[in-house]
Amino acid sequence: MTRKILVLPGDGIGPEITAQASRVLAACQARGLDVEVEEAPVGGTAYDRHGTPLPESTLERARAADAVLLGAVGGPQWDSIEDISKRPEKGLLGLRKELGLFGNLRPALLYPQLAEASSLKPELVAGLDIMIVRELTGGIYFGQPRGIEERDSQRVGFNTYVYSEAEIERIGRVAFEMAQKRGKRLCSVDKANVLEVTMLWREVMERLAPEYPDVELTHMYVDNAAMQLVRAPKQFDVVVTGNMFGDILSDAAAMLTGSIGMLPSASLNESGQGMYEPCHGSAPDIAGQGLANPLATILSVAMMLRYSLGENALAERIEAAVGQVLDDGLRTADIAPQDGPYVSTVEIGDAVLAALEAS
Ligand code: NAD
Repeated sequence: MTRKILVLPGDGIGPEITAQASRVLAACQARGLDVEVEEAPVGGTAYDRHGTPLPESTLERARAADAVLLGAVGGPQWDSIEDISKRPEKGLLGLRKELGLFGNLRPALLYPQLAEASSLKPELVAGLDIMIVRELTGGIYFGQPRGIEERDSQRVGFNTYVYSEAEIERIGRVAFEMAQKRGKRLCSVDKANVLEVTMLWREVMERLAPEYPDVELTHMYVDNAAMQLVRAPKQFDVVVTGNMFGDILSDAAAMLTGSIGMLPSASLNESGQGMYEPCHGSAPDIAGQGLANPLATILSVAMMLRYSLGENALAERIEAAVGQVLDDGLRTADIAPQDGPYVSTVEIGDAVLAALEAS
């Protein structure tokens, strides 16, 4: 059956990096991958053309797709749009909400060839391979009531940190299953010594554990997890946590790997449909100059093949091709040693394609 992939290039470096990822997809098609690929506008580009960052036609096509590949959205030219519902990031948030993408997978994998690029000592990070599973559609970012109001003649701001048992169980199962496919260790991060909502989180994780007897479940308070991530990050295999803690910890874990230009991500819904995107933004400072690193987006294609299309062998081939290119010493500017030589977005794309062909 032909599966549908929707590519949303977006803004800034988005079109440059998705162009390289689309070439990789085309190479997979040439090897027999049965997919239909189409493109649609999102973000600031969509606002300029259609007056909205998420046109109905883009949303409809996203709903009909098996997987969505997103570049990035945003840029200074749209920061002054007064109606915040029309800002580029609303395109992204709208897609997450409309597609019900509750499970965010954020791998922090350090290619050994890039160990020197990390801010930590190479021996602390060489071989690092963490998967952070972050709940994406609930928690304090969405909880009601919320607001800023006057109480006793002073203004107070408030938000609600809320999770239902069903929401915790849903993300817990994603994390346990992920741990089963990896190193079989799952660390659930909470603040159960202070917050009732995360006491329930811990209780639900404990309740699920007997269903996954091959997975070792541990718990860690979020403050300790932040400390352990920079002290001894290799102790982690899969980490599961709520929306806000996951937001913070996954960015910290990303930086352990040295470059944001290398990190893919996936956001999945209950039917396995997913949106795949690099962890970085639209990098307007380097847009249009051929300086963007497309590897995070190319690795997002590998995640798409693995998690939404069940094409593990092809996913591994793409990851191996990226490894080969790094072995060969090719670097874009963001991962090149200071004053070292670097290649352009298209050149590194060419090299990945050549490595794929050769595999
Ligand atoms: P950013 O990730 O775009 O850029 C941060 C720094 O990293 C910049 O110096 C940039 O040049 C560099 N960088 C990022 N990706 C790179 C790549 N692939 N290759 C080489 N260098 C790369 O973050 P920012 O500067 O805070 O945000 C810029 C815009 O992106 C803003 O409008 C922001 O709202 C948006 N943004 C979008 C997303 C998304 O679409 N998912 C995420 C974060 C930020």
